[in-house]
Amino acid sequence: MERGKLFVVGFGPGDFKHITGRAVEVIQESDLVIGYKTYVELIEHFLNEQTVVSTGMTEEVSRAQEAVKQAESGKKVAVISSGDAGVYGMAGLIYEVLIEKGWKEATGVEVEIVPGISAINSCASLLGAPVMHDSCTISLSDHLTPWGLIAKRVEAAAQADFVIALYNPRSGRRTRQIIETQKILLKYRSPETPVGLVKSAYRDRQNVVITNLAEMLNHDIGMLTTVIIGNSSTFLYDNLIITPRGYQRKYTLNDEEQALKPHQRLKKEAEPWSLEQEGNLALDKGSHTEAPVVKQSSLEMARAALAMVNGKERSSGGTPIVQQKIEALFELAVSPGVANKEFTPMQLVTLAEVAGEKGRMEYTPHHKIVLRIPTAEPDTITSQLKAAGFLLSPVGDVLSIKACDFCDGEKTESIPYAEELERILGGSLMPKELNIGFNGCGMSCYRAVMEDIGVVYRRGKFDLFLGAKPVGRTAHPGQLVAEGVEPDQLVSMITKIVEEYKKNAHPNERLFKYFKRVKEIQGYRYRDITPVIEIEPAPCGD
Ligand code: SAH
Repeated sequence: MERGKLFVVGFGPGDFKHITGRAVEVIQESDLVIGYKTYVELIEHFLNEQTVVSTGMTEEVSRAQEAVKQAESGKKVAVISSGDAGVYGMAGLIYEVLIEKGWKEATGVEVEIVPGISAINSCASLLGAPVMHDSCTISLSDHLTPWGLIAKRVEAAAQADFVIALYNPRSGRRTRQIIETQKILLKYRSPETPVGLVKSAYRDRQNVVITNLAEMLNHDIGMLTTVIIGNSSTFLYDNLIITPRGYQRKYTLNDEEQALKPHQRLKKEAEPWSLEQEGNLALDKGSHTEAPVVKQSSLEMARAALAMVNGKERSSGGTPIVQQKIEALFELAVSPGVANKEFTPMQLVTLAEVAGEKGRMEYTPHHKIVLRIPTAEPDTITSQLKAAGFLLSPVGDVLSIKACDFCDGEKTESIPYAEELERILGGSLMPKELNIGFNGCGMSCYRAVMEDIGVVYRRGKFDLFLGAKPVGRTAHPGQLVAEGVEPDQLVSMITKIVEEYKKNAHPNERLFKYFKRVKEIQGYRYRDITPVIEIEPAPCGD
């Protein structure tokens, strides 16, 4: 007698296009197809002349037993599950029945598990890219699993910031589970956390709802719904749920995000959370595997986390531990003022305090100190720095104003204009770094003419220079485009130039390049007066 064969087949979400080629093949090759009635109907058009045995939903065990019996009698049997047969499907059950009968792979009926697209994937595809990162599936059905364990898993997943796909979220009788789950999740995640509800993905009655953790229960959730809950960095964009590929590496001073540009290689220092950065990684040089050996501190951390999940570290009131907070690098620059160059001893003490042991401080040519501090609480740092009287500015492609110190106050009339520019424009995001040099007298000893925009105060009025090439071997000063600008015109004039540049320049195009390309900014004509310097290009691209 021919040895029978058992196929355990996941047919995906339920439409013709999302079933795999192998699944169709084995269904057609089988003598018998066994599955829940609704599922058999979904794949009916693939069936040939097979005998179809369909049983009710509650009879999963007898279905598995029947399938094994038929295969043992020499038939090719396909047991079908929706999605993937190995995800809350028939695969495990089939093996359990076989094992009970003493089945061995070498001698018993042949078994092939045919993978399918599980609901977490099919539903995610209709929501945008909500899964993307570390995720888990949790079934809220407490028919076969104790509720206490399910609740513990929800808690652990919430705490560990997994994206969560809830299967079997609610049925006619099981209505409380999803309510309890929402309560647990809200202890760790913001009420605005994006949530997707997908009902009958890729089936006739498909319905997709995008909501959030606070509102999710105001929508229809049933037996055919999968609930996908974002992690702490998941966001909504154009009615899609997106979970970024990684966590934010940086906090910046601006609300606007200063994302790393594609061409910027990731720097180690931008990943303060990595194991290596923590100093926890030590290579066991003696071993053959060279497997990283994690020092005890990580083990301790894991134990502490476990203790939290087990509820041992709660405060007496049983209130939750902490909301999810993830450490990222906080990058910002500080200076004592636009014109002021003097740090007080207390300011230096504050810098040391906020930087702590892990923070770094870098002194820049623009008379600022750039701070890079791994933290989960950038706001605490900014308040401390502000209280110490620092001027705070973001780092990166932003507008900075650098003013001379006005000869210890002799030429103080122009200081307010520099401060006004700082107030209006300082720290704004630009296509490329943009520096405004501000000089308090015609001596221009502060080299304002070498900045992207140069302003020189002279006899009660301002001269304006545009388009310096501040760095490189072909560096040159800016062109004098306006002389004797009235003080009350200055701020609006520079604001307009900056706005035009911001709006029209290409990404990464520095002001001098933009000026040369468009030939005119706010009515100021570009004159090609820069000396032609015959020079081999430097390897770094200058
Ligand atoms: N083996 C299946 C899961 C079976 S458990 C799989 O891998 O997808 C049943 C649960 O799966 C349902 O309660 C629902 O949460 C989810 N599910 C299955 N098919 C779905 C579909 N087409 N759309 C939305 N959710 C689905």
